[in-house]
Amino acid sequence: MKREVISYIVKAGLLFIVYYSSATFGLNLNAVSNFAALFWLPTGISFAAVLVFGYRMWPAIALGALFTNYIHGAPFLVACGIAIGNTLEALVTVFIMQLFVGRKPSLARLNDVFIFIFIAAFFSTMVSATIGVTSLFLGKTLSASYMSTWSAWWIGDLLSDLVVAPVLWLWITGQKLQSGLIKIIETVFLMICVIGVGIVIFSEQFALPIQQTPLTYLVFLPLIWAAFRFGPRETATSTFLFSLIAIWFTAHGSGPFVHAKLSESLLSLQSFMGVIASTSLIIAASIAERREFERRKDDFISFASHELKTPVTSIRIYTQLLQKVFIKKKERKASDYINHIDEQIEKLIHLINDLLDLSKMQTGSLEFRKEWVSLQTLLQEVVENVSIASSRKILLKGRALPQLYADRDRVGQVLSNLLSNAVKYSPENKTIVVKTQIVSNRVIIGIKDQGMGIAQEHQDKIFERFYRVAESRIQMLPGLGIGLYLSRMIVKYHGGDMWVKSLPGKGSTFFFSLPLQRKHMRLFQSKKEN
Ligand code: ADP
Repeated sequence: MKREVISYIVKAGLLFIVYYSSATFGLNLNAVSNFAALFWLPTGISFAAVLVFGYRMWPAIALGALFTNYIHGAPFLVACGIAIGNTLEALVTVFIMQLFVGRKPSLARLNDVFIFIFIAAFFSTMVSATIGVTSLFLGKTLSASYMSTWSAWWIGDLLSDLVVAPVLWLWITGQKLQSGLIKIIETVFLMICVIGVGIVIFSEQFALPIQQTPLTYLVFLPLIWAAFRFGPRETATSTFLFSLIAIWFTAHGSGPFVHAKLSESLLSLQSFMGVIASTSLIIAASIAERREFERRKDDFISFASHELKTPVTSIRIYTQLLQKVFIKKKERKASDYINHIDEQIEKLIHLINDLLDLSKMQTGSLEFRKEWVSLQTLLQEVVENVSIASSRKILLKGRALPQLYADRDRVGQVLSNLLSNAVKYSPENKTIVVKTQIVSNRVIIGIKDQGMGIAQEHQDKIFERFYRVAESRIQMLPGLGIGLYLSRMIVKYHGGDMWVKSLPGKGSTFFFSLPLQRKHMRLFQSKKEN
């Protein structure tokens, strides 16, 4: 209990100090009517504080606002009015967020970002502007028109919610930073890029010859980079950093937003920053949401395939036992039925294994057990199996293949996938040809069918996850669109490649190459010389 009180006092005390110093800074930056600051950090700070630490932070905000405005020259009652407005602003923003999106809003969700920008921040800042400017008006301390003071107040606060609050919110509640040297180097480059772009846009010293044409749109480059490669937190940080540079230059009379009066310059800069901040928050959230969706989908695939595997395996064991019983009792018909069931279970197990491999591939946990493998024997075995299972004629042509240091099961899986596809996507009466070659230091295996073929525009895409050509006769055939993706990844793991040559209506040849190990290259060279 005591600890909680101390922790509260420390947090509230810190909030008061931060509020006071940032508010003083804002009021000294040419505030309209002396009190409507165009760069008002406290709004974002107090919103983040209430969101993260709860509504009980309100006294620190109220005291901070009262103290700053009173010291800055506001009559006591006016300062009280302003303090009420500022406190309500933070409470209302959090209240609206929680009302619409629940207790744990997140800037990684598009819906929450929209509510934050277009409802919570937009309206709550109006509350503060209206109460604050009305207090100034009633206290007869307005030195500019009501509307111009109100709009400066509102924009200053809104910008703070859009630029400052996300940075604090995301850093306080965010996950650990991504580690790894490459990520650190990329982060440093991103920050350099944000600063560089800020300088190019705003500094007259560094002005490019084309400065006559506004270069403000350049800011989107680093912000989109941050959104794509990092996330909402890094994007918000980049926007914040850029906005500091922008304000600094504009306050020093440099850059594309400079007008006769500093307050006018800041007003036009802040409108620009408002658009930038909202756009980048929206882009970052949509990318983060998509990533999250992908992650959940991968988790689901992994979970579902694990869950399916156990019952299917036991069904298989029992059907095999049942078959033995029927064979013993010489019940041929029943035994035939069981055979059909077993074939279907075999297919099901194949699909489940593909799904499991896919999820392992995504998490990088797919294991490879390399050994010396006779590629020729493996190829003959797989060709024979597929040929018997499908009752199709498969010809094996070309030169005999050597031993390779590879994962036997995985290379077998590639061969079996390609052969099964050739069977699946070509007519029953057409022969399939498997041709082997050794070109310089690679083994190349080509599997040629005389089937429906693949149109040019699909030829690259069929190697992507879940891609199936959207043709009704293909959609009718069973498949998940993972076989080629997995096969290509397996071949790539072995240092090889996979590609296709195809003509619609004429057929396709799927090729894959595997590098020869040094030992064999020498062997083949000496054979050639002989
Ligand atoms: P699946 O066959 O399970 O759909 P794959 O990843 O093996 O998944 O193949 C992806 C897509 O590539 C198939 O849906 C099909 O449209 C196309 N495809 C693959 N092999 C052939 C082939 N031999 N002939 C024609 N189309 C093919």
